[in-house]
Amino acid sequence: MNAPLRLVLASGNPHKAAEMRALAADSRLPLEFLSATAFGGMPPVVEDTGTFSGNARRKARALLDRLPAGHWSLADDSGLCVDALEGAPGVESAYYAGPAGDAAANLAKLVTAMTDVPPARRGAHFVCVLCLLDPSGRESLFEGRCAGRLAAAPDGGGGFGYDPLFIPEGQTATLARLGDAAKNALSHRARAWSALAAAFRHGMLGPA
Ligand code: IMP
Repeated sequence: MNAPLRLVLASGNPHKAAEMRALAADSRLPLEFLSATAFGGMPPVVEDTGTFSGNARRKARALLDRLPAGHWSLADDSGLCVDALEGAPGVESAYYAGPAGDAAANLAKLVTAMTDVPPARRGAHFVCVLCLLDPSGRESLFEGRCAGRLAAAPDGGGGFGYDPLFIPEGQTATLARLGDAAKNALSHRARAWSALAAAFRHGMLGPA
């Protein structure tokens, strides 16, 4: 049997890392999932490309530059796009309420922005783009989306970020209320990961 592929996650976000680890474990791919902290941490990256794919690429490349030979780099760039706000906060989701990247302040700002917006106009979707780089720098991009709507008020203690306000299509509770297992069955990140896993299984990612 081939040695597992050594994949390093280009993220300092512990919530994303936990979800990716769970998704990787569920997919049963022959991967050794490593944290950027084992290689000096995630280098600072300016996320100003204006696109999820551009920002994901930037993070994955910044990390690959500091990895030993033979390691793969994987970055996640994601965000929430709200119809009534013309797609905001979108790629700015992490910094919606300011450069501090305060998740509670971001959520509060979104609640305020959506005050008085009626149920029929509360549509939104999450986007996740994964950028995978093989040890030579060859790139593959995978996108996942999760459509839904914004609740009238935050609800639930699970998940992170905007999860307390987002109700996925076909559900009646927010992602924060549904819990980790349910979220990992339908989230934007799960769908992007499943595209990555399918490419891997079909041999499209090539040997390490
Ligand atoms: P990034 O680190 O630049 O990709 O920013 C991602 C931001 O989008 C997070 O800080 C959250 O605000 C939001 N976000 C992305 N994925 C999720 C999710 O699964 N649940 C809730 N918020 C998310």
